[in-house]
Amino acid sequence: MATVTEKFARPQVRQTQCFIGGEWVPAASGKTFETVHPATEEVVAEVAEGDKADIDAAVKAARAQFDGGEWSRMDARDRGILMSKFADLLEEEADELAALETLDNGKPIRDSRGADIPLVIDCIRYYAGWADKIQGATIPVRGEYFTYTRREPVGVVGQIIPWNFPALMVAWKWGPALAAGCTIVMKPAEQTPLTCLRMARLAQKAGIPDGVINVVPGFGPTAGAALVKHPGVDKIAFTGEGSTAKIIQREALETMKRVTFELGGKSPNIVLADADLDAAVEGAHFGLYFNQGQCCCAGSRLFVQEKMYDEFIDRLKAKNHERKLGDPFDPETEQGPQVDKAQFDKILKYIEYGKQDGAKLVTGGKRHGDEGFYIEPTLFAGVTDDMRIATDEIFGPVLSVLKFKDVDEIARRANATNFGLAAAVWSRDIAKAHRLASRLRAGTVWINCYDVFDAGAPFGGFKESGLGRELGEAGLQAYTETKTVTVSLT
Ligand code: NAD
Repeated sequence: MATVTEKFARPQVRQTQCFIGGEWVPAASGKTFETVHPATEEVVAEVAEGDKADIDAAVKAARAQFDGGEWSRMDARDRGILMSKFADLLEEEADELAALETLDNGKPIRDSRGADIPLVIDCIRYYAGWADKIQGATIPVRGEYFTYTRREPVGVVGQIIPWNFPALMVAWKWGPALAAGCTIVMKPAEQTPLTCLRMARLAQKAGIPDGVINVVPGFGPTAGAALVKHPGVDKIAFTGEGSTAKIIQREALETMKRVTFELGGKSPNIVLADADLDAAVEGAHFGLYFNQGQCCCAGSRLFVQEKMYDEFIDRLKAKNHERKLGDPFDPETEQGPQVDKAQFDKILKYIEYGKQDGAKLVTGGKRHGDEGFYIEPTLFAGVTDDMRIATDEIFGPVLSVLKFKDVDEIARRANATNFGLAAAVWSRDIAKAHRLASRLRAGTVWINCYDVFDAGAPFGGFKESGLGRELGEAGLQAYTETKTVTVSLT
């Protein structure tokens, strides 16, 4: 990933309206909402507040392209070529996109330019390569028949995304949908609509036909709910909170929409006593504090084997004291503000719960500075399985460290949760690590690493952490329907 050395300038905000059928239009109601830079709390743009009428118009545009429009008739290889052009334009504008992401979300430029945007480009390129490789099968059926399958695009997809990786979530959703030949209506998170709108402009510049991608910024219960209920939408792909997913699941069932969900987690990060201490400390710190702790797969339950526990806490404490909080446009900054006041308040509430429940506060525990939504890197030792900071997703820079004795115990305790998104194991005994990995009920297990993502590697949750997979071939399949065609040979 790219290393960032210079300070970035504030970017210009260029797209703030709805993007429907290739036109940039205000919301039908004329309403707008503010988007805020979380480091200074200043308003950076007024964005069109879409609702049902705008969703209707966007679905109509997406349907027109899907039901016989240019996109539906385009050769698969040409779809891939347009996607590659889109990836090239994203790369040309990588600096500006990263700065826009930092402005809207508050994440440090070293992350947005070093990780988020390179992953965005990689994801679109990866799926561009798939466009002409989506194949069916020939099936040896009984009798004088020739039977084959086709993998066809699922249709018009409604995509609803959160604010923690705004641009990357766009790429994870648009990449497979475009490769499969679907058309799109996206509702970005109300906290962070700006990079999504800019990416739509670049897709348009790349020549992706008008109406294939539509973006309606707005709020969940209005624009989001209208998208979920719309009879012209064939599938909903959603990333966000489990309780929202359950509302969407019920609504989507009314019209039998396909759904895929990427939800939350309380991922166990397990350090065995034979682990490489330096690497495990680094991985535990990064696995939780990366992106201000706002990761669905954050290693927020850190289990350390008894023998190593005290030294581990000391090492984590030292790392937290070194962590640089500050202006997210400064390349030295490692931790920026939380995304908004609501998340900031929720995290501080959980820190209080940690204290009330009897955990030992080792570092942090309060606001940093007096401007922006900054929270000190917070570390709790002596955490037990039943404490609220060990059971609930906090989505902030709060690390809970628990102690364990042996491997059987840890496999049981790690799995004792309704979540199942990710897990990690740190050990020098690789056979032991593989054995433990096979016992963990999670969609992703990292061994001696954390937060390693690749567009080719499927990602998603067991249990209440999700439904279906994103990325890789599995992510593509979720945007297709299988059609069986049988021909009489007599
Ligand atoms: P959320 O589920 O409320 O919002 C995610 C998206 O869904 C947003 O675009 C929102 O506008 C939309 N939405 C909300 N209600 C909707 C509805 N009724 N119908 C359709 N769309 C709707 O999540 P959030 O408020 O962004 O974050 C709250 C919590 O969710 C966080 O604290 C965190 O625990 C979790 N979260 C998880 C992830 C993840 O990747 N798994 C990402 C962000 C947040």
